[in-house]
Amino acid sequence: MASHIPALPLPDAPRTDSVFSVLSGFHSLDSNVPGLSKVILNKLNMKDYGEYRATVEGKAKTISFRNYKEMFKKMEETFEFCTSCNTLPENLCEGRTLKRCVKCLNVYYCTKECQRKDWPQHKKVCKKLRLVAIDRLVEWMMFTGDLPFPTEKWSKSAAEVKNWDDWLPMQGDLTPRLDAILSGTNMEKLWQNASRPRPDDSDLHQSLWRIQSEFLSRVLSVGMAVQQFGLDPYAKPLTIHIAGVSHNETMGARLTDYDELNNMFPGHQGIEIVMVGPELVDGPIARPPLRAFGPSQSVYISAFKGLYHQFWEDMIEKEEATKPDLVVGFHPGFHANPGLIEGWLPTLLLLRDLNVPTCFTLYSDKELERSLQILLELEVHIKDSGPNPFASQKPEQVQSTPNKTPVHCNSHYIRFQGLLPQEDLEESGVDN
Ligand SMILES: [Zn+2]
Ligand SMILES: [Zn+2]
Repeated sequence: MASHIPALPLPDAPRTDSVFSVLSGFHSLDSNVPGLSKVILNKLNMKDYGEYRATVEGKAKTISFRNYKEMFKKMEETFEFCTSCNTLPENLCEGRTLKRCVKCLNVYYCTKECQRKDWPQHKKVCKKLRLVAIDRLVEWMMFTGDLPFPTEKWSKSAAEVKNWDDWLPMQGDLTPRLDAILSGTNMEKLWQNASRPRPDDSDLHQSLWRIQSEFLSRVLSVGMAVQQFGLDPYAKPLTIHIAGVSHNETMGARLTDYDELNNMFPGHQGIEIVMVGPELVDGPIARPPLRAFGPSQSVYISAFKGLYHQFWEDMIEKEEATKPDLVVGFHPGFHANPGLIEGWLPTLLLLRDLNVPTCFTLYSDKELERSLQILLELEVHIKDSGPNPFASQKPEQVQSTPNKTPVHCNSHYIRFQGLLPQEDLEESGVDN
């Protein structure tokens, strides 16, 4: 029976300054709340980070929960530690339990005193963390297949749709589509088993939209980069590589995930999306890239498991895959630590030296700033950067530091191509 329970996403990447990857593992989690990674592994019945990865990648036994209640409970328990003094439940005195903030139902405290002490900090994010707590449960709808809800053909050209406010009116009234999910059996199961009462319908409508926006944010960011680089999907088929994909983009990925590009560029010559990354999760998209162009007017998704520069050597140089017209990376995270920059360096240099149009997205303006610095040191030619008009609307908390301002997926972007022109280098030399 357990295997029929669609699994929730595993504890999510702690974001912004704490990046979660093969290289850094749970390190950043533990540096904030010592022992937290152990708690997560323990709750998921796993012995170490390697087993966690193997499960995420579909190699090991899948995590089995006896029932939905257990699944939602274990997920919630990964958030249970005192936000003020970082005490974990197992370290509390006999008979004591952590108490949840009644306003957001998201953060926990060991004592009234700890809560009082934390309030000046927590009150700044409490409202937003209430939404975060709803979203992390409703996100399950992405894994049950209730989300994404279907979208409409575009009534405006891609160039006219500059942000969500342009996109949303083309969808007409979302209410019937959202109500269908609200009255579905999975939504009912969710609130029967989650350890909190069901939020009201308007809260749930908004939550569903925020989660859908995160899904679409990736597709629309790709479409935006196509336009910004002046690529013409009507003139010829396009090959777009998504470099450095992780379990976030590939767990539960469907062959139709980029179909919004068909609405964006109706009648295009064919678009291939190749997902490349060492953390690729097995599934229907894990099929070999095309050697020749795919069918026009449709999007073809394929994948390669490995680092991007390996993909280039193993596949592109051997003509097993097509050269990209565009490379996109969602939250590459190379600003975060030396291990990650080491992993990305060959790819960054390759993209620079082969003059490949490239777009990266980031979680925050701080991350943008640090990433720009690294790219400038590599003398990459930055075309532009700034806030992404198609940022995810779903706030996300830094798991081990809940009072940090929540961040949004794809909130910023950097677009670059080739080597910084020589005259720019000389100009900056004159200033010194
Ligand atoms: Zn405490
Ligand atoms: Zn609160």
